[in-house]
Amino acid sequence: MKEDYRKLPVAEKLSNEEEVVWINPKHVPFAKSSLDIHMADIEDAEMRLARFASFIMKCFPETCADNGLIESALTPIPKMQEALKEAYGADIPGQLFLKQDSHLAIAGSVKARGGIYEVLKHTEELAFEAGLLRPEDDYARLAEPECREFFSQYTIQVGSTGNLGLSIGISSAAIGYKVIVHMSADARQWKKDMLRAHGVIVKEYESDYSEAVKEGRRLSDADPKSYFVDDENSVNLFMGYAVAARRLKKQLEDREVMVDEEHPLFVYIPCGVGGAPGGVTFGMKEVWGDYVHCFFVEPVQAPAMLLGMVSGLHNDVCVQDIGLTGLTHADGLAVGRPSGFVGKVMEPLLSGEFTLADKWLYEYMRIFLDAEGIFLEPSACAAFAGPIKLLAREETRTYIKENGLEDKMDRATHIAWATGGSLVPDDIREEYKNTYL
Ligand SMILES: *Cc1c(COP(=O)(O)O)cnc(C)c1O
Repeated sequence: MKEDYRKLPVAEKLSNEEEVVWINPKHVPFAKSSLDIHMADIEDAEMRLARFASFIMKCFPETCADNGLIESALTPIPKMQEALKEAYGADIPGQLFLKQDSHLAIAGSVKARGGIYEVLKHTEELAFEAGLLRPEDDYARLAEPECREFFSQYTIQVGSTGNLGLSIGISSAAIGYKVIVHMSADARQWKKDMLRAHGVIVKEYESDYSEAVKEGRRLSDADPKSYFVDDENSVNLFMGYAVAARRLKKQLEDREVMVDEEHPLFVYIPCGVGGAPGGVTFGMKEVWGDYVHCFFVEPVQAPAMLLGMVSGLHNDVCVQDIGLTGLTHADGLAVGRPSGFVGKVMEPLLSGEFTLADKWLYEYMRIFLDAEGIFLEPSACAAFAGPIKLLAREETRTYIKENGLEDKMDRATHIAWATGGSLVPDDIREEYKNTYL
């Protein structure tokens, strides 16, 4: 009986809002994982983004410096590594980096990867069908008035806790679409205001994210000229996120950081519905196989992906089923029900998960800002729970031992995946800096 999951010790801890460290028992050597998606799918997404580069530069001049590539820096954060040792006694062996998706162009969060990719893919399909574009054309022509006029007949809709809405909303509006974003109760006011300033229609819901998605999907399905970006099931979003991995490989090579049998890579990514961390993880496993160890981090009140994986029920279970509210200060992670598609793909790939209480989001944010002078939104700061707990908790110490990594840890690389923050307005930053739970 699947209901038995409630009796598992980890499920009991989750329902008691305890912080847990979970090692995925279904994780297998990469060669033995059989997936329906492959490197070729990532390459297809990469090539599509390359075809769109001239158009991206036209619509978003801030991407010109990078030739229309939407990519973030990989930054060593030695002062944070030192600060974590001082604050928590976290002696992190090897080198700690930050992947600054918090500063991605256009959307200021990891959603600039998947969200914009899916909108572009849809745009390409519409333009091909209408004969506005051929694959060999310069895609910059799609920014011309007659193309914008064409796109304005179509609607893009999405359900969001905030950042996906910003990504889809800002990018779709710039292309010329009509956009409707269905925002859950967790969404912050400033995100709604910013979208409205871009001409996006924002519908607000009293209910949580799953309800906003459901209603958005229903309304979009009723309109033949409307396209719904389905965060809970979208393979396109997932592939847009997965593109990150090969670019990261190049960034590590440029810094002469090795990832191989003797040099393990640990990556810690905040998780909501699972698409962003799942896509990035899928890409990294394709690139590095067993040399990369991927961990997700979720809030104690919204461990949707963890509950789905622990129970094996994926999107047939939600955090409310074990008595949690799903309410968290990590608005980007405020998801009660995980993506079923992503959870299944992650089963053989994910190393494990950490959950953390909300108060740490603000504390890590302040420590990080002090140490490195970089602002991150609270959701993104969840990533730091990974390096802090890796050697402090027995579960992960056992994982290191069982994977033969003990004597390699001094040569390890750790990446905290900073998923958002650069668009947060100054007054909200001040509010965050002064929030103590
Ligand atoms: C959306 C988001 C995540 C997680 O992405 P999912 O695809 O929902 O798992 C993490 N951090 C921030 C800041 C986000 O906006």
